[in-house]
Amino acid sequence: MDKLLLIFSTLFGLLIGSFLNALIYRLPLGINIAYPRSACPKCKHVIAWYENIPVLSFIYLRGKCSECHTKISILYPIVELVTAIFAFAIAPRSIGPTALFNFLFFLSVFCAFLVHFIVDLKHQILPDSVTIYLGLMFFVIGLIIRPWTFWAIGGSIGLGFPLLVSWIFYLLRGQVGLGGGDIKLFAVLGLYLGPMGIIQNIFLSCLLGAVVGVVLIASKAIKKENPIPFGPFILIVASFQIFAEKWFSDLLIYIP
Ligand SMILES: [Zn+2]
Repeated sequence: MDKLLLIFSTLFGLLIGSFLNALIYRLPLGINIAYPRSACPKCKHVIAWYENIPVLSFIYLRGKCSECHTKISILYPIVELVTAIFAFAIAPRSIGPTALFNFLFFLSVFCAFLVHFIVDLKHQILPDSVTIYLGLMFFVIGLIIRPWTFWAIGGSIGLGFPLLVSWIFYLLRGQVGLGGGDIKLFAVLGLYLGPMGIIQNIFLSCLLGAVVGVVLIASKAIKKENPIPFGPFILIVASFQIFAEKWFSDLLIYIP
């Protein structure tokens, strides 16, 4: 692949990562994503353009606000770097007449996953706006490249199966098991993964969640009463299914 194009894709990833940081901060607080301009949450110092350059500004500011020296989370440069690395990795795989389209599609899915992942860990919510964005993309792609039965059945299983399990759980225990955000995410993923893919996702994310939950509780890292956000497990499994499709299908051989 053209080196210049690869550099451009990576820089584009850095910029998008910087935008994702704004989304991660603003979406859960319900702040408009375009206005007002970013400011230090403590002293309200408006962040100048040269303090907002991906990764470099964090190093230059030594991870502190230039006015009040409040620490800036290391998560900011990490989100920028991770997005850039993804763009770098996906760019050479986007070839052929639909290269640009493929690149933008996979990058947008990754970005939506990353925002969901971090927001769910921090606030235990999966913002509806991100799920709707994913749903629209998956629906349009489904219309173009799949028979309607694939996405329609996939989406119905993604919505219906977790809903049924939650309802049974509620009848038995009087508690709500899965969150509404998790169920909506399953439904939307079903549109893209199809019937088999979404069943695999539900099964594997529950398995992964259970294993990690048991380990965290046994190692006393968290208390039994503390809820563990479930979204990250769904997103980890879906990432393998979507971005490492071949690797994922090889792995399935080992799962009974
Ligand atoms: Zn400040």
